[in-house]
Amino acid sequence: MSTEKIDIRTLSKLELRTFFEENGDQSFRGNQVYEWLWNKGAHRFEDMTNLSKEMRNVLQEHFVINHIEVDRMQKSTDGTIKNAVRLHDGLIVESVLIPTKSRTTACVSSQVGCSLDCTFCATARLKKMRNLNPDEIFDQVVAIDKESRLYHNRPLSNIVFMGMGEPLMNYKNVIRSIEMITSEEGLGMSPKRITLSTSGVPKMIKKMADDKVKFNLAVSLHSAIQETRERLMPFAKSMDLDDLLDSLRYWFDKTNKRVTYEYVVWDGINDSMDHINALVKFCKQVPCKVNIIEYNQIDDPGFKQANDKAIADYIQVLEKNRIPVTVRRSRGKDIDAACGQLANKS
Ligand code: SAH
Repeated sequence: MSTEKIDIRTLSKLELRTFFEENGDQSFRGNQVYEWLWNKGAHRFEDMTNLSKEMRNVLQEHFVINHIEVDRMQKSTDGTIKNAVRLHDGLIVESVLIPTKSRTTACVSSQVGCSLDCTFCATARLKKMRNLNPDEIFDQVVAIDKESRLYHNRPLSNIVFMGMGEPLMNYKNVIRSIEMITSEEGLGMSPKRITLSTSGVPKMIKKMADDKVKFNLAVSLHSAIQETRERLMPFAKSMDLDDLLDSLRYWFDKTNKRVTYEYVVWDGINDSMDHINALVKFCKQVPCKVNIIEYNQIDDPGFKQANDKAIADYIQVLEKNRIPVTVRRSRGKDIDAACGQLANKS
């Protein structure tokens, strides 16, 4: 017989209720434990003070609470905090707290490493080791919420799935984590304050639309010209722009939510007029906005941030065509916490 204990956070509320019934207690105890786990973020049975000592011991005999540990915290001069987070099996992922005047955003990881191959991203160079479990994503949010309260005197307000990994390649666990982050018995955060960023997996974008998710969608577009996009994101050979557009149309029809396109402009790669025009044409197909993000240098001389004139051209042409556009400055660069820099360097 295996003596390995079960991670209690893999159990549903119903399963917990049943466990108590079968162990000579009342089923509502299951609700109490569920609340300790997903609302109060408890990591130890002994903290569950409304259970009897005997019952806590019974739990201890049957279950473990696998949880993350913030292994190392780095603070940027701009207030950004990067956590290197150790998982129960010793693997490490990173998450980032990004403060602005009005909000604190958590940038969380969904995989150890990444299953995709974007040529400009440091995380893509790490082999994908495994998917994160729902509780491992949840714990990153709880850890950043604590840090936000401690260092910025306010709770976490927003979450972006823009850390390590491709969330749509770990769909089930990401959705479950969001359920626990947003539900009233969990952290009770509004899904409107959550954004999932995908490199663009059409089949899964349609699935999200069918599932009627309530959070926001961002797509890392970077080029509306197939040939260029394939160069930047080789996986896009098998998930081309037509399929992507088709899935985004489907997304908008079902959810009525505008997508955000994330877009880096690189010198000599996508900084010319034909790229700008292709983007405008793409943007006119489905209601959207464009977020131009600054390139964060990784050690590849083939990629360089385009000059200010190219960015200004993009903005001017997009605005002329009434396509909302924002420019996002990088945060936490001094600690390698910016987009595409998460690579477990330490
Ligand atoms: N896999 C998801 C989420 C993680 S990446 C996705 O691709 O969207 C988060 C964002 O950072 C994406 O828009 C990605 O294209 C961008 N990114 C990756 N490397 C970058 C770099 N070196 N500089 C700037 N942005 C980068």
